[in-house]
Amino acid sequence: MIIDLRSDTVTKPTKGMLEAMMEAKVGDDVFREDNTVNELENRLAEMFGKSDALFFPSGTMANQTAIKLNTNPGEQIICDKYAHIYNYESGGVSFNSGVSCKLIDGNRGMFNHEQVIDAINPEAYYYSKSSLVEIENTTNKGGGACWDFDEIKKIKKVCDDNQLRFHLDGARIWNALVTKNECPKQYGEQFDTISVCLSKGLGCPIGSVLIGNLDIMKDALRIRKIFGGNMRQVGYLAAAGLYALDNNIERLVDDHKKAKEIGEELKRLNKIKIVEEIETNIIVFELNNDVNEQQFVQNLADKNIYIISMGSGKLRMVTHLDYTNTMHEKLISTIKTL
Ligand SMILES: *Cc1c(COP(=O)(O)O)cnc(C)c1O
Repeated sequence: MIIDLRSDTVTKPTKGMLEAMMEAKVGDDVFREDNTVNELENRLAEMFGKSDALFFPSGTMANQTAIKLNTNPGEQIICDKYAHIYNYESGGVSFNSGVSCKLIDGNRGMFNHEQVIDAINPEAYYYSKSSLVEIENTTNKGGGACWDFDEIKKIKKVCDDNQLRFHLDGARIWNALVTKNECPKQYGEQFDTISVCLSKGLGCPIGSVLIGNLDIMKDALRIRKIFGGNMRQVGYLAAAGLYALDNNIERLVDDHKKAKEIGEELKRLNKIKIVEEIETNIIVFELNNDVNEQQFVQNLADKNIYIISMGSGKLRMVTHLDYTNTMHEKLISTIKTL
């Protein structure tokens, strides 16, 4: 038995999902004739209360398209120093859109509206023009933390007052919705564009969707094509997405419960300095200074338990659809022996 907690992207499609994929009605999506893709896009647009949505092969491409739609070259994005678009998208913001990032020194990937106000550049011509605020919910590098929705509303007001667009990287928005008992439409009301992943907690093999109103989204198809993201009979993948929306959202509470239980167990170990607060399916913890990190990770790997190092002394575990009750029992009993 291999217990892989490196990420919630390691899941493999279940039998039910594979069956849904096999039965998909498909067509050539370049001609916009794949009805299953169209259905997935319509469904997500409606879910978030927007008029348009577009299917993407990756969350990175969806975010990069959103940035291109919301900015012009030379302008600046305001985001947290932990932001995925800044850290883990290969410098795409500058490569693809010719923009820079003004980083906010937030807490677990989150900040407040006053910090946004401070980050907006003055009007003077020699400054880069601030044009987009970007946040992540849940935060990835921030350990699955969820934003306070009232703060999001305050930031939206700052965006409106300063003609800034507002993008949500909602790769794990499903985890936030389930934990905070929120609904997609309230997010649709606050953001110009929202990217969501189907390939993380929802268990699809691939797929992300960018959601927004047509006035902003009208060029999304062209930009996706420029990025090489045009696809053909991709309804087989969209069918996995539809299946996931029907079957795999509510069950995220189970991943969250298991993550909290793992955290409680880790806290009892005197090898561990700190376990960050666990709100969703991500567990981030630090070892005491005298414990060798590499050895700790290797020791677990020798027991077929895989976790990941995030650098600067932080280790990460992520619970997911393929992390079963049996694995959970084995992990908990193994932690007790560390
Ligand atoms: C995973 C992730 C993405 C997109 O990742 P892809 O691997 O390109 O699908 C974007 N933002 C966040 C916060 C993520 O965790």
